[in-house]
Amino acid sequence: MVPSTVASRKPRAAEAGAIAIERKFHALGLREQQDFVLHLPLRYEDETRITPIARLRPGFPAQVEGDILRSEIQYRPRRQLTAVIVDDTGELQLRWLNFYGSQHKQLTAGRRLRARGEVRGGLWGLEMVHPRMSNADAPLPLALTPVYPSTEGLPQPTLRKAIDTALRQTDLSDTLPESLRERYDLAAFEPSIRLLHAPPPGVAEADLIERAHPAWRRIKFDELLAQQLSLAAARAGRRSKRAKPMPLSAQAGNLMQRLCQALPFDLTRAQQHVCGEIAEDLGRTYPMHRLLQGDVGSGKTVVAAMAAAQVIDNGAQVALMAPTEILAEQHYRKLSAWLVPLGVRIAWLSGSLPAKVRREATTAAAEGTVQLVVGTQALVQDHVAFHNLGLSIVDEQHRFGVGQRLALSRKGEEGRLAPHQLHMSATPIPRTLAMTFFADLDVSVIDELPPGRTPVRTKLVADARRDEVLMHIAQAARQGQQAYWVCPLVEESEALQLQTAVDTYEAMRTDLPDLRIGLVHGRLAQAEKAEVMRAFREGEIDLLVATTVIEVGVDVPNASLMVIEHAERFGLAQLHQLRGRVGRGMTESVCVLLYQHPLSQVARERLRAMFETSDGFEIARRDLAQRGPGEFLGTRQSGLALLRFADIELDAAIAEQAREVAAWLRKHDPQAVAAHLARWMRGREDFLRT
Ligand code: ADP
Ligand code: MG
Repeated sequence: MVPSTVASRKPRAAEAGAIAIERKFHALGLREQQDFVLHLPLRYEDETRITPIARLRPGFPAQVEGDILRSEIQYRPRRQLTAVIVDDTGELQLRWLNFYGSQHKQLTAGRRLRARGEVRGGLWGLEMVHPRMSNADAPLPLALTPVYPSTEGLPQPTLRKAIDTALRQTDLSDTLPESLRERYDLAAFEPSIRLLHAPPPGVAEADLIERAHPAWRRIKFDELLAQQLSLAAARAGRRSKRAKPMPLSAQAGNLMQRLCQALPFDLTRAQQHVCGEIAEDLGRTYPMHRLLQGDVGSGKTVVAAMAAAQVIDNGAQVALMAPTEILAEQHYRKLSAWLVPLGVRIAWLSGSLPAKVRREATTAAAEGTVQLVVGTQALVQDHVAFHNLGLSIVDEQHRFGVGQRLALSRKGEEGRLAPHQLHMSATPIPRTLAMTFFADLDVSVIDELPPGRTPVRTKLVADARRDEVLMHIAQAARQGQQAYWVCPLVEESEALQLQTAVDTYEAMRTDLPDLRIGLVHGRLAQAEKAEVMRAFREGEIDLLVATTVIEVGVDVPNASLMVIEHAERFGLAQLHQLRGRVGRGMTESVCVLLYQHPLSQVARERLRAMFETSDGFEIARRDLAQRGPGEFLGTRQSGLALLRFADIELDAAIAEQAREVAAWLRKHDPQAVAAHLARWMRGREDFLRT
């Protein structure tokens, strides 16, 4: 009995250990052999050489070999282990502040050892603190030792071993034909990858660290090529899908024309232009996949309404998804005002609706008794189905996670028939980025604002002058103007942010007793939110104290004053969106950015950018420069870094070549395409499609 338990316990412990290690590998994205092959070092340690002790220089890492002269545990004043190692040229002190007893035992006098670490000038001459020790009889390695990105509890030797195994067991043959490599002056794959994992001692280490070495260029090229290939495949996949063509009806008096006539304004030239592009796409037999970009306030909603009208005219349904309830509700109201008088039936769907009302809405969508469904994320839930979805529209698409966008794009896909897709965003994506990340997206741009807008004046005001701002608000209110007061972001806690909003609201009511003041935040019930927004829209509220729930989309043209408290805590895109809530009517609008000293360098630059420009494209450019593409595009949420090795800005030239090669390979060498994607993508293509 006893022996068998003992026998079975051991393997079980080993198994548990292996599972734990595997989990750590997974956390690093390492699942298959290919992943290990492409897990590249951050830096290297040179263990190929022994430096004579007399030649050591403080501040540089080195490896020495010598005999232990003595070692002892000292208390001066902290408990520490010290040893002295000696070679033919001199002595070096070694020191450990944290150590095990076994380490002390290892350092027996007379034993020959190697020590590696950074050399420092200590009180008693040169020393190494916490050096790594190894036996002197092992042969010196022939290559630099790689240091890989790792995670807690996963030691470098374990990673190295797994990567070595993968390098031995994986097919590393080249995915690119030699002719192509010659034409683009690309190093071969296998030697490149081997060099990066185990560089020979003579290699220019700086080139490796800065990723300028030809081996790095090949890896970056491969990564960008994989991206281009999968995007092209996604595009081809879409074109091979079928969509119901819904051409613009030539008949006079179609829904779109009637909508146009009913609008209280004329479309701008830019709006007409993008409406034309969308109308043409909708008439095709494969699904539209179009991004509509236009600065805050440029009038994207009405373009969405025109597209919806065309689809409804063709007897199909439309879904419109917005990121917040306030915005979705506003769209519902606005589209209803435009379209219901023309006989269109519209449903509203949000997570906070009573179950019965929600059921009615989903039934109406499924049975086709409504032609347009407007809602929040609730639209992509599993049980929501459509009778015949012809077009899905996503407003402020950058606010949604990749998964949600993907889910909506799959809604209404039946067999090979897929709905058309229109995405709208006020966050302009610079060309280089758009080209790389959204190759399967056609882009329309509204590049002018509706007429009669007066530019918003932006003022930077130190928080110490808050009272003056309050006085100004009171004055403006007396003249019939309306204002927003946006409460500071509290990153750490939503509850705290809420509390700040409530406190601010109470303080305002005391400070400005004559004003009608409202409060809106994310925790209010949908009906309450809707009621506050209605009251503000209809001029029953002078000052609306709000959290960032009003950040996107909210459209109350009479509001002409925007105050943002602790503006230094907000990101550029957010500030631009918030400022875009005003300047929508005829009165000159003002945006006050209240800030508190001291300002960090980044915050200072952000506020300066807001002061200097109101051009959304310019702001996006600066935002991108400050935050980098990952954060800018919100891909962080998806948990998938799109590019690990190439830098989209710095390696733009390589990206351009990768695009050329992708096109050529797709035409002439489908086998190479398959091999390349198998190495680099492993089924991650889906994420690029949204
Ligand atoms: P955004 O592009 O930020 O979503 P909206 O669609 O909310 O902008 O439009 C902003 C405001 O401009 C709305 O009040 C809308 O009715 C109005 N608007 C849109 N197009 C025009 C136009 N061509 N002329 C005048 N006002 C317009
Ligand atoms: Mg909008």
